[in-house]
Amino acid sequence: MNNSPLLQCTDVRKAFPKPDGAELLVLEGMNLELREGQIVGLLGRSGSGKSTLLRLIAGLSEPSAGNLRYMGKPILGPAPGIAMVFQSFALFPWLTVFENVALGLEAQRMSRPEIRTRSLAAIDLIGLDGFESAYPRELSGGMRQRVGFARALVVHPNILLMDEPFSALDVLTAETLRTDFLDLWSEGRMPIKGVILVTHNIEEAVLMCDRVLVFGSNPGRILSEIKVNLPQPRNRLDPSFRELVERIYVEMTVRPAAGTAGRKENFPGLGIGSALPHVSSNLLAGLMEAVAAPPFNGKADLPEIASDLTMEIDELFPVAETLQMLRFAEVEGGDLKLTEDGLAFAHAALDERKRIFLRHLLTYVPLAAHVRRVLDERASHSARKSRFIDELEDFMSEEAAEQSLRAVVSWGRYAEAFAYDDENAMFSLENPT
Ligand code: ADP
Ligand code: MG
Repeated sequence: MNNSPLLQCTDVRKAFPKPDGAELLVLEGMNLELREGQIVGLLGRSGSGKSTLLRLIAGLSEPSAGNLRYMGKPILGPAPGIAMVFQSFALFPWLTVFENVALGLEAQRMSRPEIRTRSLAAIDLIGLDGFESAYPRELSGGMRQRVGFARALVVHPNILLMDEPFSALDVLTAETLRTDFLDLWSEGRMPIKGVILVTHNIEEAVLMCDRVLVFGSNPGRILSEIKVNLPQPRNRLDPSFRELVERIYVEMTVRPAAGTAGRKENFPGLGIGSALPHVSSNLLAGLMEAVAAPPFNGKADLPEIASDLTMEIDELFPVAETLQMLRFAEVEGGDLKLTEDGLAFAHAALDERKRIFLRHLLTYVPLAAHVRRVLDERASHSARKSRFIDELEDFMSEEAAEQSLRAVVSWGRYAEAFAYDDENAMFSLENPT
């Protein structure tokens, strides 16, 4: 047995070609190592390249530069010792539980009885005993994902890759499955040596992982690495657990702001190249009101206000970030602090709110200002959505462009900056200046 890591990624870079021949840089400077006995978390927001990295590790796609090694050997295609669990379960509806699990072994040379024994053992281990001949449609979401786990474990992989395996499940089911997984892991009952868990949920990362790599976006890269030295089983209410969640939260909010500024300099004079989160003006107003009101009076600890609003802190993220972008709030060491205009907004009536919002939207969101300028300058005071999508695609994926434009549409409507007709996908100006 050599002591090389189970997995080693060195300076991995991944770019996708875009239709116009330019490239979309998705991952840069990725370095990571997985050693025996570890669960490593990849934590980052949607679009930060987590799934892309997992596909590289699984041998399903090739890096543009850098290299990946599995037990010291280059990964050149799907390795038999690496198995994956997907968010979407990825089961075949026309196959039974047993057949779905046994499918994991089809590629290996193994006798029928051996396939049967191994499959039944995996089904049993993951808590599906008695459901061997059920079809996926007869199972709850949690049970379906258990099939997903069994199918991955049946090959006795050294490395288990999990891509947001709990995020399609309801809260309680997800927690049960996490706990069951951690129990099996701590008791050494699963035939695996190391785990990589992709998640966008901070608490899940702190609950399950020994190390968490925090991803930043555009391009996806590792912002920091955080060790979780708490013994299992972990308690979410434990002060040292909360402290870690908050520390990671700060990592994820403070640094991207700096990254955004850097990115702008890459596109001088354009400024529309940053993807926007789709957060409704209702949510923005709601958070400003909550922070402005007692007991917070303008400044709130984010995890605290999240629990006050019965929101997951991860749901609060994009809202807080959007308030920052609009300069209605700043984040100071884990606290969200309203700016003067943020406070004014919270205390104003609807008409005044719209005026304040309009001013900030056109000042701080370059894409909104751009749409407005185009509409102002055209004699028809109208423009197709597709023209903006085309422009945005020079900077981001089509998906991110659609989402950014949806955000601008909803904020623009609220502020009455412009109108948008969903039916014929046209922007127009109701009150040309
Ligand atoms: P995450 O899993 O963190 O949400 P992904 O790895 O799925 O992020 O995606 C990161 C970025 O890479 C996104 O902008 C996505 O649109 C882009 N992307 C992923 N796969 C492809 C592909 N095959 N072709 C082009 N772009 C892709
Ligand atoms: Mg993903």
